[in-house]
Amino acid sequence: MFTATLSPPNSAQTSAIPDDLFAAIESLKQELNAVILAHYYQEPDIQDIADYIGDSLELSRKAANTNADVIVFAGVHFMAETAKILNPNKLVLLPDLDAGCSLADSCPPDAFGEFKAAHPDHIVISYINCSAAIKAMSDIICTSSNAVKLVRQIPENQPIIFAPDRNLGRYVMEQTGRDMVLWQGSCMVHETFSEKKMVQLKIQHPEAEIIAHPECEPPVLRHANYVGSTSALLNYAQNSDSSVFIVATEPGIIHQMQKQAQDKQFIPAPPMNSCACNECPHMRLNTLEKLYLAMKNRAPEITLPEETRVAALRPIQRMLEMSA
Ligand code: SF4
Repeated sequence: MFTATLSPPNSAQTSAIPDDLFAAIESLKQELNAVILAHYYQEPDIQDIADYIGDSLELSRKAANTNADVIVFAGVHFMAETAKILNPNKLVLLPDLDAGCSLADSCPPDAFGEFKAAHPDHIVISYINCSAAIKAMSDIICTSSNAVKLVRQIPENQPIIFAPDRNLGRYVMEQTGRDMVLWQGSCMVHETFSEKKMVQLKIQHPEAEIIAHPECEPPVLRHANYVGSTSALLNYAQNSDSSVFIVATEPGIIHQMQKQAQDKQFIPAPPMNSCACNECPHMRLNTLEKLYLAMKNRAPEITLPEETRVAALRPIQRMLEMSA
């Protein structure tokens, strides 16, 4: 079994990329006693080699319960940080350290500290898509799967700040009837969908159901037959009687949808420009080669100041308890 005393190999040992990356990664998995956790927005090859694929909530639960010595997180920085917060003694690897998140970046800790100080009687509920520093300033963490459920558990007379995603915040307000103070952050991917092009697509495919992630803007959500987290969209597509879906979230999820419902058709919702900007550029920084190299080199590793980690752990644990 792998212990924390393993030292990184030198560069001569790291240069070659084997022809059969799948076999090489499998072998490293055994050697390191590693688990590979992959988000649904990762490229298909990474999803196919992962031990677990999921959305933020499912992957946090897997990270909290794993017996592996090494967690390889095929996702973005805040997700790997969450795994580290939950597993301080494990080696947590992220294939590309630059895999960040526009939504997490839209909530800088200094500015958020001032915002919080301006609302001293409010509790802070933060979407898991934020940095460890923001988590450390929060009372409860939520995901898009459990945000509505968690807000419903807060006493009516308790004012709430919701951060960092304004679209998810607005959606939760609609669903719960609660007024909340929203931090005005957003995801560059989910704000890229064009309402006009989506309606045109629906006219071409009148039988299609539109399914959307709550990080999308209100004009897109208004047309959706179903709104839910990435996992919820996957379940819905599998169980619905419809056979055609227009999918308004990062199109990486379509790989799993297609695998689980091979006879159904999934059409990515179109972005405003003729670009691939509905694909998350941060998620797509990870590749199978980088994943292999991260395991081979035991780097890049996620590290956190212990004070931040301990402060960020409390609201995550609260979420896991409240959403159990
Ligand atoms: S899809 Fe949006 S919220 Fe998700 S990692 Fe990419 S930028 Fe961040």
